[in-house]
Amino acid sequence: MTIITDERCTLYESPGHPERPFRVAGSKKKIKLSQLEIQWIKPNLAPIEKVLRAHSKNHFQRLSEPYDFDGDTAYHKDIKEHALRGAGGALKALELARADKPQFSLLRPPGHHATKDRAMGFCYLGSVAIAAIEAKISGAKRVAVFDFDVHHGNGTEDILKEREGIEFFSIHQHPAYPGTGTKSLKNCHNYTVRPDLPREDYRKIAKKAIADLINYEPDIIIVSAGFDAYAGDPLCNQKLSTSDFNWFGKTLSSIGVPLASSMEGGYSNDLPDLIIAYLKGILGR
Ligand SMILES: [Zn+2]
Repeated sequence: MTIITDERCTLYESPGHPERPFRVAGSKKKIKLSQLEIQWIKPNLAPIEKVLRAHSKNHFQRLSEPYDFDGDTAYHKDIKEHALRGAGGALKALELARADKPQFSLLRPPGHHATKDRAMGFCYLGSVAIAAIEAKISGAKRVAVFDFDVHHGNGTEDILKEREGIEFFSIHQHPAYPGTGTKSLKNCHNYTVRPDLPREDYRKIAKKAIADLINYEPDIIIVSAGFDAYAGDPLCNQKLSTSDFNWFGKTLSSIGVPLASSMEGGYSNDLPDLIIAYLKGILGR
């Protein structure tokens, strides 16, 4: 298992903000103590031309202007580089997946709320969307993006909607932030779960989403791996257990096409265990 990370992504924070350095630093520490054999590598910054396939020039330039983007999404010194590194991690995951190497991109900031034109929801650049477009342009015929973060990947949807050869599958709570994803579009399939849904029922809906994804016959799957549908997560109201994240890893990797995963949300103190469960799942354990 290769983990793509870089300690520079832990160098920024807003006091009291749930999207905190622990998410990467704490996870790295615990993974090192686990029985997983890990190769640790650093990402490159995503090349600007690949970023500009997904985002407007205005948005990209805005990342250098020292003003907060919204109440949740602060400006930080070097946030552009941090976001480029996050997107670079998703691109590296894609490259490794194609070489048949199991991997996980463990970086912050997350990406799936960043739209073409706007940073929001702790996200600045749509890392997974950037990787999906790269996968398509560099030869994949049918790219699937699967997003199991508890929040709707509105940014991924905004960037990928109506793109030929890419389909987006998202399971998320409604009502919840950001309030989108209640209907499916042509190539964006949205599966909603109500607050406080029993985990058995959540699994049924997740199974349906994955069955639809398999039916699409993708030649590569890019995953927005969010761990905030966990019962102990402070931001939403789902009931998943550690074993459910193991199940996501197992189920997605058993589809038998290259699988490239990047971390999105997940804000509980148990996040490291949830990631380990997912990684074990990918390895079929
Ligand atoms: Zn989330």
